[in-house]
Amino acid sequence: MSLGIEQLARANVRALTPYQSARRLGGSGDVWLNANEYPIAIPYELTQQTLNRYPECQPEQVIERYASYAGLQPDQVLTCRGADEGIELLMRAFCEPGEDAVLFCPPTYGMYSVSAETIGLEYRTVQARENWQINLEEIGAQLGGVKLIYLCSPNNPTGNLISAGDIRTLLEMARGKALVIADEAYIEFCPQASVASWLGEYPHLVVLRTLSKAFALAGLRCGFVLANAPVITLLMKVIAPYPLSTPVADVAAQALSEQGLAEMRRHVKTIKENRALLIDALRQSRWVETVYESETNYLLVRFRASSFVFKSLWNQGIILRDQNKQPGLADCLRISIGTRAECDHVINALAALPAIDNLRE
Ligand code: PMP
Repeated sequence: MSLGIEQLARANVRALTPYQSARRLGGSGDVWLNANEYPIAIPYELTQQTLNRYPECQPEQVIERYASYAGLQPDQVLTCRGADEGIELLMRAFCEPGEDAVLFCPPTYGMYSVSAETIGLEYRTVQARENWQINLEEIGAQLGGVKLIYLCSPNNPTGNLISAGDIRTLLEMARGKALVIADEAYIEFCPQASVASWLGEYPHLVVLRTLSKAFALAGLRCGFVLANAPVITLLMKVIAPYPLSTPVADVAAQALSEQGLAEMRRHVKTIKENRALLIDALRQSRWVETVYESETNYLLVRFRASSFVFKSLWNQGIILRDQNKQPGLADCLRISIGTRAECDHVINALAALPAIDNLRE
């Protein structure tokens, strides 16, 4: 019997809806506020001309500089192709398809489920409470068979931190049973909240980081897993032989130099200033019901008639991220903090929309 290509694929891959990344969703515009990127490109030059050679698997300078930035030892750092690869490496190293499960707390980042589905792992979800803190009792009731618990703090797309006390309680609940993974993709916007310094107390804590956000390097595809050496050693078994290309390692090392770190901190300051202005202006818009507090470079906003707002701005080339399909986020859009001019575009576009009374959707 001859099978079509589709039938040759694994059943879970046939059933999979791929991650709807900002780039896949498309759109055409000049105000891109849908992927939590830094709005301005930082120029870099390559310092090495050695592309005939394979790169180091774990480039020493990148590892050393990141360890020093994070206050850790080099053997507690693994670098990979974005935090996204870190999410998946953990599943591949720790979870047996058909036996083990992963757990996370929606509304949250979409790749935890997509990676689990790709690998064919069961995933359990425990909806966050109304204030978007984790529901510890319910998590406790769901822990049987769970090997990995993903916590996103600050959380994408809600923008809030998970309470440090709750993370500690969860770490105690999971001790000897499961790893707790704190996804800190946005931690540069609230560095005091990092749990990386807790690694000495918890052998089962893992922290995910990235250069895609505050470091303004989403196109580089460089991320980090921070964990104790036994976890890193296991991940090193399943990682690709050359996860970072030579140019990626070259640029990452520059971004992590003293000068690069100072520049990153300037970005954070600018983004926070723009965020404060955007929050104020949005709160005065008649289209806006709630602007949620954010510790990040994006805002979650509950709108009146969000799909009308989303489409109207989209048609004007202002591309936001629709969160309507996430549990608990009806009428919510996520807006990345762009330049001052980009924030002004959003505000002006909202002000120019027809009055709400005349609205027919
Ligand atoms: N975690 C969270 C919470 C994110 O928002 C993102 C990026 N959207 C990632 C991880 C992945 O980051 P990277 O670009 O490093 O793969």
